[in-house]
Amino acid sequence: MPRIAYVNGRYVPHLSAQVHIEDRGFQFADGIYEVVALIDGKLCDEVGHLDRLERSLREIDIAMPMSRRSLQVVMRQMVSRNRIKNGALYIQVSRGAAARDFKFPAPDVHPTLVMTLRYMSFDIAARKAGAKPVVTVPDIRWKRRDIKSTALLAQVLAKQAGVAKGAAEAWMVDDKGFITEGSSSNAWIIDAKGRLLTRPASGNGILKGVTRSALQALCKAEGIELVERAFTPAEAYKAREAFTSSATALIMPVSSIDGHKIGNGKIGPITDKIYDLYMAYATDPARKQQKWDPR
Ligand code: PMP
Repeated sequence: MPRIAYVNGRYVPHLSAQVHIEDRGFQFADGIYEVVALIDGKLCDEVGHLDRLERSLREIDIAMPMSRRSLQVVMRQMVSRNRIKNGALYIQVSRGAAARDFKFPAPDVHPTLVMTLRYMSFDIAARKAGAKPVVTVPDIRWKRRDIKSTALLAQVLAKQAGVAKGAAEAWMVDDKGFITEGSSSNAWIIDAKGRLLTRPASGNGILKGVTRSALQALCKAEGIELVERAFTPAEAYKAREAFTSSATALIMPVSSIDGHKIGNGKIGPITDKIYDLYMAYATDPARKQQKWDPR
């Protein structure tokens, strides 16, 4: 069974899937992407990811390459043609292929739509057992971090700086000394009072994670106190527990931050509970899809 990719209307073998060298996604990182987890055959938080895709595209003036309904048909085709039940569905929309020129191309240039699907295991017991180190790095990104842009160079460098120090994720720190988010995840800590802290998504300072939104709703329903405020690395070092959230890493327990051990270096009880709540939500066949609120 070859892996199948989708490129502009065609389902093609993954190995030979290609876009033109003058695609603006390649030339300028002029595009938007989404990553959706496929867990036990279900696209997790599909509605939220599509809401955010539409919003990101609107913010940079790229038209939806097709209707949401049609996109959902392609997404399902990708799942059935690749014959896998667990993985990561990647969707990218670029401004299309045109002779290299910074300004937008002519209106008849159609956005490029690409999808890939990669197998991934969601062994939750193993993931829970795998608390991982995080380091902090300066946040050198542009100011529209609310847009899920394919321009990820700052995050690539942040992640690699983390990996070079043996960390699984890098938490980025803004000019005022506050943690913004992970290179590909949102950052959370649990303080001495047992409150959950995460940075507010207002002001375009972070990407408003779809997983983050789901966790907020679940914590609210469960009576877990959540405070949306920015925190510093010094506060994070003293946290009782810490974790990151993202569509495919789900909830990653953090064992240390810049070498400061968090709790006993393993997943803490509140993180463990939040993980269970999230998995129950993500895998409930009758679950209500959470709408992603752009505000
Ligand atoms: N922040 C950044 C910078 C990210 O790249 C991601 C992952 N896409 C997230 C947060 C988490 O977002 P989500 O939960 O929607 O995957």
